[in-house]
Amino acid sequence: MVFQNPFDTLNPAMTIGRQIIRALEIFRVGKSEAERRNQMLELLDLVKLPRAFAERMPRQLSGGQKQRVGIARAFAGGAQIVVADEPVSALDVSVQAAVADLLMEIQRNEKTTLLFISHDLSIVRYLADRVMVMYLGHVVELGTTDQVFSPPYQPYTEALLSAVPIADTSVKKKHIVLDGDIPSAMNPPPGCPFQTRCGWKSQVPGGLCEKDVPPIRDVGDGHQVKCHLTEDALKEMEPVITFAAE
Ligand code: SF4
Repeated sequence: MVFQNPFDTLNPAMTIGRQIIRALEIFRVGKSEAERRNQMLELLDLVKLPRAFAERMPRQLSGGQKQRVGIARAFAGGAQIVVADEPVSALDVSVQAAVADLLMEIQRNEKTTLLFISHDLSIVRYLADRVMVMYLGHVVELGTTDQVFSPPYQPYTEALLSAVPIADTSVKKKHIVLDGDIPSAMNPPPGCPFQTRCGWKSQVPGGLCEKDVPPIRDVGDGHQVKCHLTEDALKEMEPVITFAAE
């Protein structure tokens, strides 16, 4: 696992090298201390940190460098799945792309499945092959990145996409304002989890959104959406983001 906050996940009293060796010990990698030390240095190479960093203390590293150590520890055991929980959100914007690129590069080379949890849809679009959108603990949409980022959307995904900040003035974006606060996941509303804030709810007859949790259904080619809207209503959805050339 790569944790969200690299500032709190390293032991401040242990050298970087020792902390990576500790992960190798826990994963039972290497037969001797010398072998593990060698693998620790190779892990520093993998995350593009100088080998001299093995002797440094966490306080001598920047946030991005600390997160690289977190990535080295996560990949220390030859994992088949690495869960990265908002791995770049605590970092300075200027280093976020470099750390995300590094994760992608290692994931491709090591053929690891990377489960990347994020609120930042620009990064999700950049690095994901498949996307799962969750709201109040429910999977509300699931599909390839292209499917999830183009209509039809589950209404929560549509609102999320409209909140992505885009600096390019040639890009047009629908502006969707959600009313109300996010309900507590401990005390979710009845029916559809998104029904207290959904702008499409009036299109579903019989107050169904307030009564029944919608089933997740296939809207084509494995693209799954959890919503009571009819196929015709889903087809009416327009792209949230359009480019001037389109
Ligand atoms: S089921 Fe109803 S409330 Fe839920 S997302 Fe669909 S339209 Fe909106």
